[in-house]
Amino acid sequence: MPLPIDLPIVDHHCHLSPTGEGVGAARRFAKAGGTHLFLATQNYAGAVPTSLQTYREQFAMTEELARRIGEETGVVAYPVLAPYPVDLLGAAAQIGLSAATELQFQALELAAHRVEEQAAVALGEVGRPHFPVPIEMAAASEAVFVRALETARDVGCPAVVHSEDLDANGYRSVADLASRASFPVGRLVKHYARAVVPAAVRQGIVPSFVARRELTTSSLAQDPPWFWETDFLDDPTRPGAVLDLATIPRRALAIAADPDRVDRLRIPFVESIETVYGFTPRTASRAGR
Ligand SMILES: [Zn+2]
Repeated sequence: MPLPIDLPIVDHHCHLSPTGEGVGAARRFAKAGGTHLFLATQNYAGAVPTSLQTYREQFAMTEELARRIGEETGVVAYPVLAPYPVDLLGAAAQIGLSAATELQFQALELAAHRVEEQAAVALGEVGRPHFPVPIEMAAASEAVFVRALETARDVGCPAVVHSEDLDANGYRSVADLASRASFPVGRLVKHYARAVVPAAVRQGIVPSFVARRELTTSSLAQDPPWFWETDFLDDPTRPGAVLDLATIPRRALAIAADPDRVDRLRIPFVESIETVYGFTPRTASRAGR
C-alpha cells in the first residue's frame, strides 16, 4: 500500500551542513517520500562561537539552507534556532564563563527574533550538557536553560530540548525548570528520546523518538503528541549518523502497508505538529507521484 497522498512525511529533527551532503540529503529524503523537515541549526564552522556575529551567520545559514531545500527539492524545511547548550563550555574556556553565559542569552534573543519574524518555528536545541560538568558550569547551564524557556514563552513558540536521557526523575527536573520559567510543558519537546517512557511519568513533556525500527514500532501505540526524528548530523566523518535522512519515509512506507496501523502515522506527521507547534504541515508534492 502506498503512502496516503495527503499524508505529510516529517522528520522532526535533523541537521544539514553546507560542507556536508547538504541539500542533496534533502533530495534523497524527498525521493524516499519525505515532505517536511525540522532543520535544527548547528555550528557549521566546526568551532564554538565566541561572538554574537558568529551566531548571526550560523542562523542565517540555517535559514538559507531551508530556503534552498524548498526551492531545489520541494521539501518544506522549518528552521529551529538556538545557541547549542554545550557551546557554553567551549566558549567559557575561551572568553570566561560570565561572558559565555551572556553570549548564550544574546544568541537566544537573536533566535527569538527570527521566530517572531516567522523565519523559524521553535527555539532549539536548548537545554543542558548530556554529560556531567563541574558544578559552576552546571549552574550556568541551568540559568541559560531557564532563560531559553522564558524566551520561548515570551515569543510563544515550542522549545526543543537537548539533555541527557531522561528517566522519571529527569523528566521531573526538566518540568520543574519549565515551571520556574512559566513555560507550558506541552510545548516542551525532549529531542533524541531513546526509549518509551510512560506518559504518566513524562510530566506532559513531548518526546521526539529516534526513529530506530523497534522504537518506531513501540512508540506507535503511545497517545499523542510525540514525534519521530533521525537527528541526521550530515557530518562527513560520521556518515549516516545518528540515522540516515531517508529513514523516516522508509519506516512510514513499511507501516503504511499495514491497514491497522496506517492511521497512526497521522500522530507524528500531522496531529502532534498541530498540538505542539500550532500549524498544519501542508503536503505540496511527494517525489515520484
Ligand atoms: Zn540535534
